[in-house]
Amino acid sequence: MEHIFYGKSFSRPIGYKIMFEESPRDDHHHVGGDEWNLPNCRLCETPMHQLVCLDLKDDRLSELRGEHCEELVLFSCLNCSMLWEEQFFKLDFQNRSAAVIKQEQEEFEKADDEDQITAPLRHVPVSLVEMEAEDYPTSEERYDEIFTALGTAYFGRVFGKPLLAEDELDLTCCECGQDMTFVALITGENDFDEKYGDLFFGEVILYFSLCPACHILKVEAQSI
Ligand SMILES: [Zn+2]
Ligand SMILES: [Zn+2]
Repeated sequence: MEHIFYGKSFSRPIGYKIMFEESPRDDHHHVGGDEWNLPNCRLCETPMHQLVCLDLKDDRLSELRGEHCEELVLFSCLNCSMLWEEQFFKLDFQNRSAAVIKQEQEEFEKADDEDQITAPLRHVPVSLVEMEAEDYPTSEERYDEIFTALGTAYFGRVFGKPLLAEDELDLTCCECGQDMTFVALITGENDFDEKYGDLFFGEVILYFSLCPACHILKVEAQSI
């Protein structure tokens, strides 16, 4: 079946681009760092990578806020096949730690030694910049153009309708069965300046969703 991932309905809700520039506001979003106590990857047994931390004091992200939820971490192992299957984590916002609830991956393929990405990633401040008309996949042409901009002009997208590469997302929370909130997507295929550290982790988009009631973070991947 042919999936349609663009069209007029994709012009809302509002989304933001994760850009490597100082925020002109007083929020403190960043890429990398090691503030959170993350579990080791069950497959390759190395520390997982803190990819993006969203500062929930930013009013634009208020729907993700809850008691003690001041920062939301988006993370995964970037060094093995783990990221290709669904992962569910429980977040402890107060202690800034996370535990594995479910990881579906059984096949173990590790990146070659020279391709290993060291954890933690370099801590780099980023800015959330509201998308403009051309950033929404309202037509096939725009949809194609966005894949060029994603990974060159910016690192990921927060909110908006998820930009889909292969399939609709399954947003069902593994604990309560309700729909999760789509939070962000991050591209592994990028060619950013070395000063941000090594951020290329494959021809993949990682999609992050949160159940604000259960504090479950889901990560799923699609290839591009
Ligand atoms: Zn791993
Ligand atoms: Zn839930």
